[in-house]
Amino acid sequence: MNIHNINNKPGPSGPQEQKIIPLTPDDVKEMLACPECFSEAFFEASKFALISALNPKNQSGKDEYVGIPVMVCAKCGSELKKD
Ligand SMILES: [Zn+2]
Repeated sequence: MNIHNINNKPGPSGPQEQKIIPLTPDDVKEMLACPECFSEAFFEASKFALISALNPKNQSGKDEYVGIPVMVCAKCGSELKKD
């Protein structure tokens, strides 16, 4: 006999339990390093791209700057390109 527990259904608004497994240094395969200076520390910075008012994706009706997050080397300032 199958008993379905209707109270245990994951709903869109219900609390979602997410297991977080802590990582240790043993789990690191490789540290991402800056290709210019080999520093392993990065800052998150923002670029701002001007989107034309004529672009259908721009719903503000006027030219608008949109923030684009980028990672910047903490040591030499080079932008990290992910590809
Ligand atoms: Zn660097």
